[in-house]
Amino acid sequence: MAKVIDSKIPAGPVPEKWKEYKAHQRLVNPKNKLKLDVIVVGTGLAGASAAASLGEMGFNVINLCIQDSPRRAHSIAAQGGINAAKCYQNDGDSVYRLFYDTVKGGDYRAREANVYRLAEVSNNIIDQCVAQGVPFAREYGGMLANRSFGGAQVSRTFYAKGQTGQQLLLGAYSSLSCQVNAGKVKLYTRYEMEDVVIVDGRARGIIAKNLVTGKLERFSANAVVIATGGYGNTYFLSTNAMGCNCTAAVQCYRKGAYFANPSYVQIHPTCIPVHGDKQSKLTLMSESLRNDGRIWVPKKIEDAKALQAGTKQGWEIPEEDRDYYLERRYPAFGNLVPRDVASRAAKERCDKGFGVNNTGLAVFLDFSESINRLGIDIIMQRYGNLFEMYEEITDVFPGDVANEINGVKYYKPMMIYPAIHYTMGGIWVDYELQTSIPGLFAIGECNFSDHGANRLGASALMQGLADGYFVLPYTIQNYLADQAVWPKVSTDLPEFAEAEKKVDAELDRLLNIKGKRSVDSIHKELGHIMWEYVGMGRTAEGLKTGLKKMHELEQEFDKNLFVPGTKEGLNIELDKAIHLRDFFTMGQLVAFDALSRNESCGGHFREEYQTEEGEAKRDDENYFYVGCWEYKGKGNEPELIKEPLEYEAIKVQTRNYKN
Ligand SMILES: Cc1cc2nc3c(=O)[nH]c(=O)nc-3n(C[C@H](O)[C@H](O)[C@H](O)COP(=O)(O)OP(=O)(O)OC[C@H]3O[C@@H](n4cnc5c(N)ncnc54)[C@H](O)[C@@H]3O)c2cc1C
Repeated sequence: MAKVIDSKIPAGPVPEKWKEYKAHQRLVNPKNKLKLDVIVVGTGLAGASAAASLGEMGFNVINLCIQDSPRRAHSIAAQGGINAAKCYQNDGDSVYRLFYDTVKGGDYRAREANVYRLAEVSNNIIDQCVAQGVPFAREYGGMLANRSFGGAQVSRTFYAKGQTGQQLLLGAYSSLSCQVNAGKVKLYTRYEMEDVVIVDGRARGIIAKNLVTGKLERFSANAVVIATGGYGNTYFLSTNAMGCNCTAAVQCYRKGAYFANPSYVQIHPTCIPVHGDKQSKLTLMSESLRNDGRIWVPKKIEDAKALQAGTKQGWEIPEEDRDYYLERRYPAFGNLVPRDVASRAAKERCDKGFGVNNTGLAVFLDFSESINRLGIDIIMQRYGNLFEMYEEITDVFPGDVANEINGVKYYKPMMIYPAIHYTMGGIWVDYELQTSIPGLFAIGECNFSDHGANRLGASALMQGLADGYFVLPYTIQNYLADQAVWPKVSTDLPEFAEAEKKVDAELDRLLNIKGKRSVDSIHKELGHIMWEYVGMGRTAEGLKTGLKKMHELEQEFDKNLFVPGTKEGLNIELDKAIHLRDFFTMGQLVAFDALSRNESCGGHFREEYQTEEGEAKRDDENYFYVGCWEYKGKGNEPELIKEPLEYEAIKVQTRNYKN
């Protein structure tokens, strides 16, 4: 019999579900909270906000992160902004419209009830962050300013210059510090979770490695929350921070947590193009730039060839010879189409030979029109730090005037190309954000919950903070209400000893391979396989080849890896080796899921399933479900379990950004 997934979605119409849930929720008696411990793994926006909120509510929180300070979590990289349906612009925005845009942006593969809840709490997030002192940009009159992000025709993105993630994280960190000071949160920096400990079928603790001493330590609690981010670095080159890894999530998957929709990987259209094979990191140029920047390639192939040969520059090509292909193909949304659509359109132009740099894999993002219209000062106020960042990396300043043709000034355009950026897939969670292991919760980018097959810009911060400040603190109590009568388990239990022994044995195994290849050299090769066969355009044949190559490379990893040093003390190579071991599991999972989904939707593009115009072609009859995978052992194909999607408020249709 097929396994049944209980997503615990309350009955009733979509807008009422969250209200209904809260009305019937079992809250933990405030006196009992003092007896309950919760482990929160991660201090990004999701983890820090959850730990601070749970501490504030009276629980005892153990909060861990791999960095030396919570403030260094990957979330600080977020540049462009955070969405909320405040409608400060009076442009017709509403909770329903944010809900609708998010479901449509996700190509109708998200869980409807979760997305409505997300849209509903979005406004609370802004109030919370303003109260913490987050310096959001403001209009001259003092009102919070907004800009537009892809997939929306309203301005609902709140921002703090190009550093929104950093400012939001400082807000969450100050709340967290307050709870640390109050003794409700105990912070463990430079600790990495290596395993989750299951006692009597429930998550009861974790094994973590002290990254400085190398020692393994046991932590026990009444519930475990993981907020450990996405798996984009499986592809080696991505916009993610170098430390991003999926070890905690993969370990939970190995212990029985379902992994949902792994093939939904987001490729962001505006990244600085790859420029050599010695690179280990890609840089994002924020989507906010698409508010005022226009994306184009030359109309004439001879101009493209001259750009590729370096005999011509972008600013020498006059207006009439430029193809603003997004504005041409999608007049209603223009440069602000969702990321998956913009990325595929860039690839299509470059595949046809219209790329604008020496590799042929770049398009222009040009500010000439907006600088001429608004003046450089306004553009610098909006994007100053992004222009400076671009200059630091490429030595080109996009605000420099370079040419004048027929009285029109042309500025130096940026060059951009799509790159791996975000992962919509993640640990499967129910409406309460609980995984398929009782007592184990997953929040933020590491769960799959809200974005379907494609995330809209500025919605990750919204989801991370919704989960951490407003959803988990309610939903986890339903579980903990039962736990109040359970004493916390001892870390001397055999389950802890067994888990620790296994982690230790793994460290020994990796150190004792004593082969010839560095972690990075193998990781880079894995990244090439992922990009080539499991990247922007996928085919059944390519995915099978990718799986075979990954399997062979994993064997190479097991036989020929070289990790210097010992397990005592700091050993960064050993930590990276653990991460790479898990990227292999993850890469194969992405490919299995992509192979099983014989349709294209959002970030998952199977070349066999496209319209005549090259758009993603969904198959709702056969694939209108969340694909959840259950681990079946190393080297074995995992088992697919389906959570059917049910839409009642939104009509499922083909996405249209043209009119
Ligand atoms: C360049 C860039 C720009 C972006 N801009 C935006 C934007 O403008 N708007 C938007 O909405 N989104 C944006 N995003 C996406 C957004 O930043 C992320 O999705 C979001 O910050 C993820 O938050 P998180 O808390 O889930 O995870 P993270 O911020 O990745 O935090 C993960 C935490 O888990 C910890 N951790 C990981 N593994 C372990 C382990 N095994 N043991 C212990 N701790 C562990 C880490 O130390 C860290 O504290 C951007 C992303 C990038 C890369």
